[in-house]
Parts: sequence; C-alpha cells; structure tokens
Amino acid sequence: MDYKKYISVVEDFPLEGIRFKDITTLMQDGEVFAKAVDDIAEYAKDRNIDVIVGPEARGFIVGCPVAYKLGLGFVPVRKDGKLPREVVKVSYGLEYGKDVLTIHKDAIKPGQRVLITDDLLATGGTIGATIELVEQLGGVVAGIAFMIELTYLDGREKLSGYDIFTLTQY
Ligand code: AMP
Repeated sequence: MDYKKYISVVEDFPLEGIRFKDITTLMQDGEVFAKAVDDIAEYAKDRNIDVIVGPEARGFIVGCPVAYKLGLGFVPVRKDGKLPREVVKVSYGLEYGKDVLTIHKDAIKPGQRVLITDDLLATGGTIGATIELVEQLGGVVAGIAFMIELTYLDGREKLSGYDIFTLTQY
C-alpha cells in the first residue's frame, strides 16, 4: 500500500518550518485505514503482546483499532491532569514545545508485554516518555508501531534497543 498517497503534507503547521503530516485524509478512506490497522496488527501478532499503550490523541486512533483486532486491552497515556486516578508522570521535549505525560499507576502489571502505538515518529520524545512510563510500571516494551517515520529527525536512534515498525517513511 502506498500510504503516502493518502497522507496530506501541510507546510508551516502549527509553526513555520514544520511540514505537518496529516493522517486524517488516510483515516477518511475506510479501506486504507483498515489496511493500516491490519499491517500493524500483523506486526504485533508474533510479538506476544499483552496490552497496547498509546499517547493522546493520535496514539489512540492507531492503537485502539489494533487492540480490538487482536482482542487486547488499550491503555491511554495522557497529558497532565486528564486521568482521574493515581498516576505516574514524566516530562519530555517535543519537535515543538515541552509537556508532561501520565499513565494510571495500575494500568500495567509487572512483566506484561506492551506494544506502543502512535501516528508519527519525529524526535522520539513522546515515545521516549511513554517508554519511561511503561517501564516505571514494570512493563516490557515488546514493540513500537507508527504510521509515519520522519527519518531526518533520528527518532529511531533515540529509541535504539527497541523494535520499531513504521508503515511509511519521509
Ligand atoms: P516526537 O515526540 O518529536 O517524536 O513527536 C511526535 C508527536 O508529535 C507525534 O505524536 C505527532 O503526532 C506529533 N508530530 C511531530 N512532528 C510532526 C509532524 N511533522 N507532522 C505531524 N505530526 C507531528
């Protein structure tokens, strides 16, 4: 599948110099969205995954249909102040800006094998923080899947030692 045909590239959004990769045009096409979910589920199938974890908001869009397809649970990672029960937190840097991510303390049991999902790998800051949260709870990051990888930002190097799957690269 040539996923790039369905991803819109928007110049200077949300800031000048950012070439924003918009997956909403891919998601609008049921057949292409289903193929993207199937390809990620296929990658996950052989990795003995117990649970899927994704950061808000686009990590949910990728992770939830894959979780449903594999009959697994999904654990949301959210910005500070959004989760209602006891959380662990980590702060991280973005391609643009800085933020804090949180996860419910009881969301992952020690030893559980986790697949992390998101729409796009840029610097790897968001997923680096998500890995920290999973590992703080004793989870094992058994794979990380993205729709898109921006290879020129070297996110893959930042996440070295982890198994990374991407549907398409820029
Ligand atoms: P990073 O933490 O640098 O890997 O950034 C990844 C997150 O920021 C992803 O969850 C994306 O949703 C968003 N993001 C960063 N850069 C872009 C971009 N050029 N186009 C679209 N989304 C981006």
